[in-house]
Amino acid sequence: MQSSMRIENVEAKLYRAPLRAPFKIALGETDHIETIIVRVTVEGGLAGFGEASAYAPVTGEDSEGALAFLRKAASALVGRDAAGVAGIHAAMDAISVGRPAAKAGVDIAVYDILAKRAQLPLYRFLGGTDPCVRTDMTVGLADTAVMAERAALRAREGFRTLKIKAGIDPAQDVEHLLAIREAVGPETELRIDANQGWDAKSALWVLERLEGVGIAEVEQPLPHWDLAGMRFLRERIGQQLMLDESVHTPHDAMRAAMAGAGDMINIKLMKSGGLHPALKINAIAEAAGMACMAGCMSETRVSISAGAHMAAALPNVVLADLDSWMEIADDGCAQGGFTREGDRLTLADAPGLGVTVDFDAL
Ligand SMILES: [Mg+2]
Repeated sequence: MQSSMRIENVEAKLYRAPLRAPFKIALGETDHIETIIVRVTVEGGLAGFGEASAYAPVTGEDSEGALAFLRKAASALVGRDAAGVAGIHAAMDAISVGRPAAKAGVDIAVYDILAKRAQLPLYRFLGGTDPCVRTDMTVGLADTAVMAERAALRAREGFRTLKIKAGIDPAQDVEHLLAIREAVGPETELRIDANQGWDAKSALWVLERLEGVGIAEVEQPLPHWDLAGMRFLRERIGQQLMLDESVHTPHDAMRAAMAGAGDMINIKLMKSGGLHPALKINAIAEAAGMACMAGCMSETRVSISAGAHMAAALPNVVLADLDSWMEIADDGCAQGGFTREGDRLTLADAPGLGVTVDFDAL
């Protein structure tokens, strides 16, 4: 019988850092990362780290809202057994619906603690055996020449799959993808992410013009609510249709599966509320014959590590888009978790996330 894992403290600190270059998608543009690092401490002093990267247009909360939620969660969770993950989520859900990034911050820190207590890297704690995950690299919206140059640079750096942002102007999207294919050559796999920016007709128009360009997946072409449109599109295109903003919760995954709205689901811990709900989403997807990708918001290596552990643990998570940490000019808030060689992330052979955070210096 192991000693108690009574939660003694839940702390949260805002972390801001500039990006190497401004990052633009169909939903907006930013030149910095703003996220929250969470520390949960249990009796005896063992601490786990988590991260809450709130992005209101997707998660419905901003950093201020997430911090306010985390203060309430702290008083509700102190005294609870950290091993009771379902109960921890129930207690957080009783404070508020939504707030998935804030909830993910607590959830990830709790899993860090549980895996540390089990003395296993998190991916092994979750049932995996292979510490390697291959990630893509995202190319944000910019002028055609800039996007093509960035894509070529990333391909030279060893990224075999590039995710190209789209969704503001269909004609420009076509121009971007043609130039990028020209710049990277035939070997690099390309995915296109419209972040809800198209309607069904413009999506068909774009994909028709990109026939022969070799696009493997089309991510969230239509608004999050348009499952019927997704199904319409899915029946008419050759690419894998991946749902991102349409699926936050296990209920969303079930609805999407029943609607036949997609071939794949992009699971992000910041949308799902952490690993506990993410495991349910993956199980629903797997049962429905949909593969998953481990994606990310603007996150540091703290929660990127959690996403990579999840991807390494779950055979149905076949793709990873865990790249945001590489865009931070000085990712100084945390070390470890994984190392990168080309597009391959190798998880640390250390208990838990394997991440160290100088929390008091934040
Ligand atoms: Mg996306």
